[in-house]
Amino acid sequence: MHILTTPGELVRPQQADWQVELRQAVRDGRELCRRLGLPSERAGPAGQFPVFVPPSFLARMRCGDADDPLLRQVLPGAEETVEVPGFSADPVGDAAAAWQAGVLQKYAGRVLLVTTGACAVHCRYCFRRHFPYQELPRGDAAWEDALATIAADTSISEVILSGGDPLMLVDQRLRWLLERIAAVPHVARLRVHTRLPIVIPTRVTEELLAAFSALRLPTTVVLHANHAQELNDQVARSVDCLRGAGVLLLNQAVLLRGVNDSVVAQQTLSERLLAVGVLPYYLHQLDRVTGAAHFEVPVVEGKQIVAALRERLPGYLVPTYVQEVPGEPSKTVL
Ligand SMILES: *Cc1c(COP(=O)(O)O)cnc(C)c1O
Ligand code: SF4
Repeated sequence: MHILTTPGELVRPQQADWQVELRQAVRDGRELCRRLGLPSERAGPAGQFPVFVPPSFLARMRCGDADDPLLRQVLPGAEETVEVPGFSADPVGDAAAAWQAGVLQKYAGRVLLVTTGACAVHCRYCFRRHFPYQELPRGDAAWEDALATIAADTSISEVILSGGDPLMLVDQRLRWLLERIAAVPHVARLRVHTRLPIVIPTRVTEELLAAFSALRLPTTVVLHANHAQELNDQVARSVDCLRGAGVLLLNQAVLLRGVNDSVVAQQTLSERLLAVGVLPYYLHQLDRVTGAAHFEVPVVEGKQIVAALRERLPGYLVPTYVQEVPGEPSKTVL
């Protein structure tokens, strides 16, 4: 027989801080504006891709500033409803297929595992905005299928956990998955593509760190921050902890109009990344997804920004400017 020390103890297991953050996320554009002291009419319709902004990310936005670079990434504007030629629902082409199969291989030696559809924040420029949104992790059979695919192909030396955001999985699940991947002898490297340590730094739990520390594989976490303002002291502490667990930290950003489309914004981002212990990896040209045209910066302008960056920063702080071209054997360097 159980004796309850607090009412409901057996009803709901204790949620971790990061899960509470997710529960408290703002899910409405007008509410987001209100919290920032902006007129609620600034929010456009979110369509099928609802607004989703946890308080920890909201806290880094400037009140009263409609042009705040973090707000611009997450607030739907009226521009989203404008149809622009050349922009489509699935510009990466194979995205929908990967969603179902769970395993995507485009490049030699590397396989990308779609672990979950959920993210800790909804970025308006993301190609995932047109996917049918689902928060549930995939079932056991799908995991086993993906693991069997990896085990059967000795050409695979690197497994990349992607999504959605793989750190949306709870620690126990993640640890199980990491251990299973590490048990495949020909897998030599592990990579995790995640925005969670940026959006909700408390996601870097003791359990997560223990799972990384215990891994035999060299592990790289590729974060996703687009602006220096995202990298506050809590992010710095979480990055420190990850480094302590032996993880190499890189960052990928997307070149976004009105967010980071200046030499100063990119330079500041690179310098701040280094200050917190992360190296810039890729700067992505925007995927041409419907509703995101207002974020596009022409490639010629992007090249100018990167060239200017190269004159101001050491080479290791200049990200590689790339584009995803369907059918190519690697990302295309611009
Ligand atoms: C971007 C990407 C990778 C990783 O490419 P790197 O150049 O190694 O960072 C792997 N698989 C897929 C499907 C990708 O889109
Ligand atoms: S996949 Fe990445 S960019 Fe897209 S919504 Fe999720 S966190 Fe944002």
